[in-house]
Amino acid sequence: MEDNVRAAIELGLDALGISDHYILFPDRQIHWSMPTTGLPDYFTGLQAAREAAGDKLAFRFGVEADYIPETAGRLGDQLAQFPFDYVIGSVHFVGDFPIDESAGHWDALAQDQRNLTIQKYWHLIADMAHSGLFDIVGHADLYKKFGHYATIDLSEDISAALDAIAESGMAVEVNTSGPRYTGEAYPCTNIIRQCHERNIPTLVTADAHNPAHLIRYFEIGTAALKAAGYAHQATFDKRRMELVRF
Ligand SMILES: [Zn+2]
Repeated sequence: MEDNVRAAIELGLDALGISDHYILFPDRQIHWSMPTTGLPDYFTGLQAAREAAGDKLAFRFGVEADYIPETAGRLGDQLAQFPFDYVIGSVHFVGDFPIDESAGHWDALAQDQRNLTIQKYWHLIADMAHSGLFDIVGHADLYKKFGHYATIDLSEDISAALDAIAESGMAVEVNTSGPRYTGEAYPCTNIIRQCHERNIPTLVTADAHNPAHLIRYFEIGTAALKAAGYAHQATFDKRRMELVRF
């Protein structure tokens, strides 16, 4: 975390939020998430990073937590114990199926199974919005990471999810880890435009897993937001959203 703080100060950023993964999977530990009992240690790390940032950088306490219907209640109890500035809600799993771990998982599916997985993914996004546990929708169309798309019309499922997001007051991130894989951010410009039609707040995020990537491809994310008609993006402090001009 402190390497990221140093990198952010060197880049001249005004603010930095860190949001590591927290996944309460029903029956096992996900290897790339902090331990299910790890939030206290994680929070200690966040506090040390804020001290390292001092007055050079506004440092925000974030977390990226998975929406999993079976554990949503437990997640809410856990999150309530810590003064986060923002909570990103993500869907990395449809049931047991890992959306973004490897191309092989998708390659092994028949196209009708892929279609069904993507459709269920959007239903989970809608349920996540209804849960009220999160502030930001993480990488909204993550399933395209390895080049797989639905070949059936899911526009009604996507619309229902976006309606739920609009109703929840959540923001949608424009995640610039997408261009590494797909040439565009998560979500795609068409979905960003649909967010704008619903007045859903948005913000550009890098999904950096490394200090060198803190603002990677931000120009792509910002251009996508401006092209959709956005003039502001969302910032978070103690789980309150504020809109600031680009
Ligand atoms: Zn994620």
